[in-house]
Amino acid sequence: MTIRILPPDVAAKIAAGEVVERPASVVKELVENAIDAGAKTIRVEIQSGGKRLIQVLDDGSGIPAEEIPLAFARHATSKLVSVDDLSRVTTLGFRGEALASVAAVSQLTLLSRPASQPAATRIRLEGGQQVVLGAAGSPGGTIITVENLFYNVPARLKFLKADATEAAHIHRIVSHYALAYPHIRFALQSDQRTTFQTNGRGDLFDALAAVFDLETARQMILVEYDEGRENARTRGREAGEDADEELLTSSPHRLSVHGYVGAPALHRGTRDQIIFFVNKRWIQDRSLNQAVVQAYHTFLPVGRYPVAVLNIELDPAEVDVNVHPTKAEVKFQDPRAVFKAAQKAVREAVMAAAPVPAYGGQATPTYHYSGGFGDHAGDAAPWRTSFGPSFSQFGFEMQRTFDNEGERQPLLEPPAPQGLPLMRVVGQIQQMYIVAEGPDGLYLIDQHAAHERILYEKLAQQKAQAAVARQQLLEPVVVELSPGQAALVEAELKALSEVGFELEPFGGATYRIRAVPDILGQANPAQALVDILAEMADGAIPLARETHEKIAITVCKRASIKGGQILSQEEMRELVRQLEATSAPRTCPHGRPTMIHLSATQLAKEFGRL
Ligand code: ADP
Ligand code: MG
Repeated sequence: MTIRILPPDVAAKIAAGEVVERPASVVKELVENAIDAGAKTIRVEIQSGGKRLIQVLDDGSGIPAEEIPLAFARHATSKLVSVDDLSRVTTLGFRGEALASVAAVSQLTLLSRPASQPAATRIRLEGGQQVVLGAAGSPGGTIITVENLFYNVPARLKFLKADATEAAHIHRIVSHYALAYPHIRFALQSDQRTTFQTNGRGDLFDALAAVFDLETARQMILVEYDEGRENARTRGREAGEDADEELLTSSPHRLSVHGYVGAPALHRGTRDQIIFFVNKRWIQDRSLNQAVVQAYHTFLPVGRYPVAVLNIELDPAEVDVNVHPTKAEVKFQDPRAVFKAAQKAVREAVMAAAPVPAYGGQATPTYHYSGGFGDHAGDAAPWRTSFGPSFSQFGFEMQRTFDNEGERQPLLEPPAPQGLPLMRVVGQIQQMYIVAEGPDGLYLIDQHAAHERILYEKLAQQKAQAAVARQQLLEPVVVELSPGQAALVEAELKALSEVGFELEPFGGATYRIRAVPDILGQANPAQALVDILAEMADGAIPLARETHEKIAITVCKRASIKGGQILSQEEMRELVRQLEATSAPRTCPHGRPTMIHLSATQLAKEFGRL
């Protein structure tokens, strides 16, 4: 299709938005255009976090010479024509706004050649005004170079974050698209260094390994769920026969969920690695996020989140993509159906791969479940029988979680008032839990979580008094970091120093450690730093405002007593005493419980004394 200016009635229906917020927004729009153009290879190059330069090169269809000036007009697009098209968008772009918006706030050069034309066209715009238009030599495809973003909008320039932070946002965009399009070869170069690339061979597993790492990818479970197939099978069974292929392919409401999710052993402190695509468009959706978290119910520790990369495919007519300024959210015609499908798809995959958890019996005091999973408790849906044990074999059953979009926390008893009663330490079990007696029954205390809470409050207090205790090293330790870790240190030097690290650049990705937080005790300084950086990088790109918090939590985690450590009676008493003195003794800084309480009444009930 050729590029045309949308008629006013269509333009008026387009949810307009400020698409250019930061360098990553530019990368998102340009990469989407390259994907829409059918590129097999997309190379992104940035300098200074994209502030100096962003270049996106693709080998897609190119833009015919005569259409090039039009591409920079507002509401000029080759991707839709009528209002009707807006209700079944199959391309990532459709508003015809991105090029115009980006050109308006930068110095932009576009070089493009469709395979059918002998020469490329080169156009340069500054602040949206065309300054050069001519022919040039170039391989087929399109190269767009955006220099000095916001050079003419100082107000927005001011809000940009450090280069490393902006680069991290760009990394996130590129790597997410690489997950959605394993058939496309992606490469990202930041300040002349390749920081990310995929092979474009079409295997999602390879892309996962590139985006996370091989070890993480190996712990992921394949999700292949097809609602059309499911419905057809059910219908087939009802009719007393096997599903036939015709039913499978002609199913009107086909909804499929494909991708990978983490095995239960793989979990994170944040939800940032739950990634969704709808018809291969990367979107944010709280409710879908919730669907996945709920699918792991009881499989993950409280406050931990799974890793998931899922593409939901459905008829484009059943999803409205024209609802959000940056196209980051969509609206489903039947959100419940999509929620259910996502939850079921993940639950099936996890159940099939996970070993049976040892909850045994239904008497587990803190788990009270009723009802079945989904709307058909007790039926023999094929996914249950073919994918392993039914829920009843687990000794518990899932609640009807579908009706509830909110966070469900049924695991512990009703919240007790803050503060702890005095406790008497009885002993330690599994080198991990302290058994204690209180005025009302038994307490099991997780020694690691409890110590994390204690250290965290200590650190917070020191910080409030601007007196964070650090250990000055007699001999500075030189540590060689990975480029990613070095970028993190560079970006968070201040926050790291606020918790007690004294680090100085020592050339390249090498740093010299002069001091470490006092609470790290005798830990090997280099190893501790590397561990902390790894933990920080794991999960999300730190949001600037929460970074010091996140670093503090990570340091405390590293510094605290681990499971597997035998504690003396005296050490346990001291730990419990210090825990009693904290302001929020019942949870660790990650939000996991530090203790479980079995009241005298519960004990009596369990033993049949009541
Ligand atoms: P939209 O993507 O919403 O159509 P854009 O402003 O992003 O709007 O792009 C305008 C038009 O320019 C597109 O519809 C497309 O025809 C053309 N275009 C932009 N980038 C490319 C590219 N990398 N390869 C081929 N055509 C492109
Ligand atoms: Mg576009």
